[in-house]
Amino acid sequence: METRGRGWLRPVQTAPLTEAQDRRIAEICPGLGQTVEAAGRPDPVLWGPYVSVQTGWATDPKVRHAGSSGGALSMLLIHLLAEGIVDAVVQTAASPALSIGNTTVISTLPDQIVAAAGSRYAPSAPLADLSHHLEDGRRFAFVGKPCDAAALRALIAVEPRYGQVFPVILSFFCAGVPSHTGGTEVLRALGTSLDQTQSFRFRGNGWPGRATAVLTDGSERSMSYHDSWGRILSRHLQHRCKVCADGTGIAADLVCADAWESDEAGYPVFEEAEGTSLIVARTHWGAKLLAEAEARARIRTEPFNLDDLVAIQPGQRERRRALLVRLAALWILGRPIPRYSGLQIWRAGRQNSLRKNLRNFAGMLRRTLMRQSTSSAIKK
Ligand SMILES: Cc1cc2nc3c(=O)[nH]c(=O)nc-3n(C[C@H](O)[C@H](O)[C@H](O)COP(=O)(O)OP(=O)(O)OC[C@H]3O[C@@H](n4cnc5c(N)ncnc54)[C@H](O)[C@@H]3O)c2cc1C
Repeated sequence: METRGRGWLRPVQTAPLTEAQDRRIAEICPGLGQTVEAAGRPDPVLWGPYVSVQTGWATDPKVRHAGSSGGALSMLLIHLLAEGIVDAVVQTAASPALSIGNTTVISTLPDQIVAAAGSRYAPSAPLADLSHHLEDGRRFAFVGKPCDAAALRALIAVEPRYGQVFPVILSFFCAGVPSHTGGTEVLRALGTSLDQTQSFRFRGNGWPGRATAVLTDGSERSMSYHDSWGRILSRHLQHRCKVCADGTGIAADLVCADAWESDEAGYPVFEEAEGTSLIVARTHWGAKLLAEAEARARIRTEPFNLDDLVAIQPGQRERRRALLVRLAALWILGRPIPRYSGLQIWRAGRQNSLRKNLRNFAGMLRRTLMRQSTSSAIKK
């Protein structure tokens, strides 16, 4: 995986692929498509199949504070290690080489999990070293974006030995991945630059937690989540994320998200609070792990009414409802579109008014035509 363009991680081909390798990529790459089967689980149109939905938080205040939301995801990882369910965790943390970038880390200790807690709104590639993990001999919990979780689950379906190496898959709701240009813009808005910044947190250390840069002279600059995500980062999402049918981690065992009381635009109605994660068990195995973590007093949960999610997650809601007409616009222009099956795209699209659907359709047409004319101008 290499950084390209405005700061995206892209796979770079280093050798010719065999026909079998090419076919395998087509089978598992979520960029090309995703298949979901509810298999008897409740399957709400916007949120996909689940076994249970609760809110919760890490009972350890240090973990709760470090997490993006309630630190539930990190505490689940600590639980999995403590109980010997896995030997190590594959997850994403700040890159030592690029303060606004990410690196994949292998964690075996609670302190390492806490150090990697908090959302990093930048490209990540936690599946890049998959074949090494296969040879490692240890069992891993995997943490990744919903698309990473979908790819791993699809791989396990065709190569079950990966299921033994990765017995647990965790994910989080994902509104899309901003480029490194987005992170650089946040630094600029803070009055600093990459050269002058020794470390950077996008979130965490509070709820929602401020985007915080520590400068080389030791001083700190920060801005609110509303300003960093809302005004800057969300404007630097890649195209593929705009036609994502699964921003809510349908393929994972357990998925965490923000469970806050929000305004119309989905931003929290408070400045800072003690964090609470939404915890969705997608599989019975995930629900069992969560129940065990709660029984060991590592996580505390409370009931949650799924009907409330539509107001808390406007970004996810709007993207799901807009997907049908966005895909239609791309199809009309002859652009590639992912093959989605079981993701209820028609039903989600019908939840939008005709006016909204037309607006989203026209928006995708306009953006795609603009991209086409920019790239042909560059080629000339
Ligand atoms: C790009 C992005 C978009 C998001 N969009 C939404 C959204 O639309 N709605 C919503 O409710 N929540 C969203 N989140 C997730 C949210 O910010 C919290 O991560 C989630 O609520 C879980 O909080 P927690 O305290 O339980 O997790 P924590 O205890 O903070 O654990 C977070 C875990 O995520 C991993 N991680 C962090 N960044 C990345 C990354 N870039 N790639 C892979 N793994 C990573 C860390 O390694 C850690 O294991 C997004 C997160 C990211 C990274």
